[in-house]
Amino acid sequence: MTSTIADNIARIRSAIDAARRSAQDVKLIAVSKTHPVESIRVAIDAGQYVFGENTTQEALAKIPTFVDAELEWHFIGHLQSNKAKFVPGHFSWLHSLDSVKLAQRLSRAAQEQQALLRVLIEVNVTRDPQKHGVAPTDIFSLIDDLLKQNLPNIELRGLMTVGPHPAGESEIRAAFASLRRLRDDVAQRFALPNFTELSMGMSGDYLDAVKEGSTMIRVGSAIFGARDYA
Ligand SMILES: *Cc1c(COP(=O)(O)O)cnc(C)c1O
Repeated sequence: MTSTIADNIARIRSAIDAARRSAQDVKLIAVSKTHPVESIRVAIDAGQYVFGENTTQEALAKIPTFVDAELEWHFIGHLQSNKAKFVPGHFSWLHSLDSVKLAQRLSRAAQEQQALLRVLIEVNVTRDPQKHGVAPTDIFSLIDDLLKQNLPNIELRGLMTVGPHPAGESEIRAAFASLRRLRDDVAQRFALPNFTELSMGMSGDYLDAVKEGSTMIRVGSAIFGARDYA
């Protein structure tokens, strides 16, 4: 178990290298949801310091264990705006922005915490009714609305998506390529030089995502093993 987590992290890092993208260009987020703090500790010992969680309740029970470790926590799950107050200060990134209301609440909480929160907008590229996120055709108007707000302590940094599943390689790569084009269009249209991030790729499709220009991959089961739920 112990060596497995370390081996998995090493294998994923060398797969990124083999796709000719360096670990500096592609941030590996170890998605520790449902896994115990002992597993996180093993990953830290293997040199991993970026972690992802998808519920505030579970994350806030785990994060204080590691206050001295200077970890970087990413909130990757869907977030109801009444839970926004639990994110800034604990997490430095949120991958699931989908409304102006959520952005306003996150900004208010970030100011109270005197923290900075970097956010990605979640896009439902394939308009899958089972998935969260904004339809690709609604992205420009959402960003327009966000930029009209005063949102202190919030930085808009890019886009996130969950790839189609089950799907063949060409369909998966097409979805990731379309997120990349959308990011490029947004950065250009709104003149946002820091709108650079693409959070795409999970255990089953991270290599496809890396080939399509992902800057952050969110990998859970390929590092920590299968989960019992969600
Ligand atoms: C759980 C989860 C992941 C990691 O999934 P794996 O298939 O275990 O790698 C990535 N992104 C999101 C949004 C998740 O909820």
